[in-house]
Formats: sequence, C-alpha cells, structure tokens
Amino acid sequence: MTAIILLGPPGAGKGTQAARIAEKLQIPAISTGEIFRSNMAEGTEIGKQAQAYMNRGEFVPDSVTNEMVRARLAAPDTANGFLLDGYPRNVDQAHVLRDMTMELGTKIDLVLEIQVDEDEVVQRMLKRAEELHRTDDTEPVMRHRLEVYHQQTEPVATYYVDQDLLHVVDGTGTVDQVTERIFAILDAQI
Ligand code: ADP
Repeated sequence: MTAIILLGPPGAGKGTQAARIAEKLQIPAISTGEIFRSNMAEGTEIGKQAQAYMNRGEFVPDSVTNEMVRARLAAPDTANGFLLDGYPRNVDQAHVLRDMTMELGTKIDLVLEIQVDEDEVVQRMLKRAEELHRTDDTEPVMRHRLEVYHQQTEPVATYYVDQDLLHVVDGTGTVDQVTERIFAILDAQI
C-alpha cells in the first residue's frame, strides 16, 4: 500500500510524471483536474458545477471536490495504494484527506513537489494551449491559476514539510530526467 501526493504548479508536468509513477508502482493515478474535465465533457452534474470555476482558473468548491475524491478513493483499484495529482490543493483539503485516509486505515507515505519557475511554466502552458485547446489555458486564466497556486497550494507543501513527508524535485530538463529524479526518491523511500 503506497499513497503518494504529487504537488507542483500548473504546467509543472505532473500529469506526465504521474502516469510513469503509477506504472512503476502499479497504482492508479488520480487527477482531480482530469476527473473534472471528463465530467464536463459528459455533461454530468459535477461537470456542470465545476465548469464555471475551471474556466475562470479558480478552484472548484471544496464540498464538490472532497466528495468526488472520497468516492474515487473508495473504488477497489486503490487497494494497493494511489497517486493523487491535483489534490489536495489547499490546506483544508489536506485536512479532509488526512481524515479520509484515516477512515480507510491508511496514511500518506510521501509527497513529491515538482518545482519549475514561473516563466518556464507559462511557456509550457502556452504551448499546451496550442496543442490541447483546453478552455482554461488562456494566458490571463493561466496567470490566475499560478496566483491561486502560490496563495493556496504552496501552504500545502509547508503542511507536509511539517510532517516530514515532502520531497522537492527539480522539474526542469527533459521529461526523462525528471522521471529519474523522482524514481531515485521513490527507490530510496519506498
Ligand atoms: P493544472 O495543473 O494545469 O492547474 P488541473 O488539471 O490539475 O490543471 O486542474 C484544472 C482545474 O480543475 C483547476 O484550475 C481547478 O479549477 C480544478 N481543480 C482541479 N483539482 C482541484 C482541487 N483539488 N480543488 C479545487 N479545484 C480543482
């Protein structure tokens, strides 16, 4: 049972690395952003609730997000553990996650924070906007997502430093180089 959290600003490459970590450890990668996007595409109730917030670069309300994660973690494929990408994104969510893992009889083993500086992430997101046409990838919305990250998500990293769980990873260089850095940490810690 291995429970991992992946932190890092939008554009840090969390999704790409999450897939590689999930494969290595044989655990599901759970991305709240992906779950919201697929709910939006399918026009579900959650999708309708999330859409306006996402398109403004704001967080979907915690009440919606927390219950969605709670339901996802209850699925049978998390028996060996899970990797969370995009959750928790604020300290209240981190507290809710702590309670959820306690109820499941488990705990977070490791938190990886992928660090990339702001100019670089803006460049990457602009490139992704051209390729993927995500409705929340316009420049003002990106800037706002970064601001919200600094205000709300950086304190989550501090919360996990205090619990001795945080490992910082340099997110610059090639995708493979970042994966190597992450795997070195996993091999040493798990
Ligand atoms: P990025 O890493 O580029 O910010 P994500 O796919 O992780 O993209 O998230 C896209 C959007 O989904 C966020 O801007 C936010 O509106 C919503 N979202 C994702 N995860 C959460 C969360 N834990 N709490 C609130 N909103 C979230």
